[in-house]
Amino acid sequence: MPDTNRPDLTSLAADGPAAADGRLPLIGLDKAELAALAVDMGEKPFRGTQLFQWIYSRGARSFDDMTDISKAFRTRLADTFTLDRPVIAQEQLSEDGTRKWLHAFTDGQKAEAVLIPEDDRGTLCISSQVGCTLTCRFCHTGTQRLVRNLTPGEIIGQIMVARDALDEWPTPKDDSRRITNIVLMGMGEPLYNFDAVKKAMQIVMAGDGISISRHRITLSTSGVVPEIARCGDELRVNLAISLHAGTDEVRSQIMPINKKYPLKDLMEACATYPGASNARRITFEYVMLKDINDSEADARALVDLVKDVHCKFNLIPFNPWPGTPYECSDKKTIERFQSVLTDAGLTCPIRTPRGRDILAACGQLKTDSEKLSAKERRAQAEEVWAEKEAELG
Ligand code: SF4
Repeated sequence: MPDTNRPDLTSLAADGPAAADGRLPLIGLDKAELAALAVDMGEKPFRGTQLFQWIYSRGARSFDDMTDISKAFRTRLADTFTLDRPVIAQEQLSEDGTRKWLHAFTDGQKAEAVLIPEDDRGTLCISSQVGCTLTCRFCHTGTQRLVRNLTPGEIIGQIMVARDALDEWPTPKDDSRRITNIVLMGMGEPLYNFDAVKKAMQIVMAGDGISISRHRITLSTSGVVPEIARCGDELRVNLAISLHAGTDEVRSQIMPINKKYPLKDLMEACATYPGASNARRITFEYVMLKDINDSEADARALVDLVKDVHCKFNLIPFNPWPGTPYECSDKKTIERFQSVLTDAGLTCPIRTPRGRDILAACGQLKTDSEKLSAKERRAQAEEVWAEKEAELG
């Protein structure tokens, strides 16, 4: 017989599917929500702050770990809620030290996260959606249909799993941390799931939470112009734009979203991005595609295009994936392209591809495990692209 005296806490749980045993997710709730939950369970609101710190600062995996909370309350919490993170369905380690996790969420959907360790930092690239609605032609994820948005808890869960793997709990207060930076540059368009991304990043930025400063968080968008100012106003994180072309003609060919939000509108949104300055520049990501966007004329068009924006560039040698129609520009071409930008006073390092051997580099993430030939993959990509472009209008 169900206990009818027990309050219905379903509405207080984090968004997302319940576990197989019916318990509800707690990861993804912010401090105010945890306080409301504590009150609803007959406790004082400060228990919410304690829960918040146990979950996001100390990385508790079990309610039993929360030793300054009464045993009776811990038992009631454990009866109804879980602190489950996504399950690691697959983990791969590149020869260059890059680590890629394939996360499986409670309903079986999957998304990837990649940790890129460097001498002075560790950057974790996380996903915001399973699949993507967009069709950037150079991107492997773009050949996958959108399955669903990730919840705040699933977005944060990717960071918590990485911290678990590195044994980085409680949140280090000094500079010994190995995960120093977060980039929303994995699967999906974060500005098409902005409410969830915003909530997740607010928990990540909280000093008594995961505690990563907004200066170390970068949201990367394909250019969803109407949401860009909101991102600057409400989150104030760094902005990166997948630019990849200096003219509408080329950009619309490789990024169909450009037909909806052309370069003029995108540049205006960048020029007025809240908080952008010479000290805090917008990053333009530019993938080098042989004979598509890599000529000196393309570089000169870019110089002209970004003249009103505080910006820097990352030149990314294209990372091939099975079935792609593109090739990477050769080294000389990339260097020539770089020198046009450098001569115009723009910062534009050529990025060393990371994790290529495990398909963890930029634009290579995709979570199906179908075994298809390159030709079959190409045919499948064309079919998905056609469908998505019809939806984009
Ligand atoms: S680059 Fe980003 S927005 Fe474009 S298809 Fe890939 S995941 Fe989607």
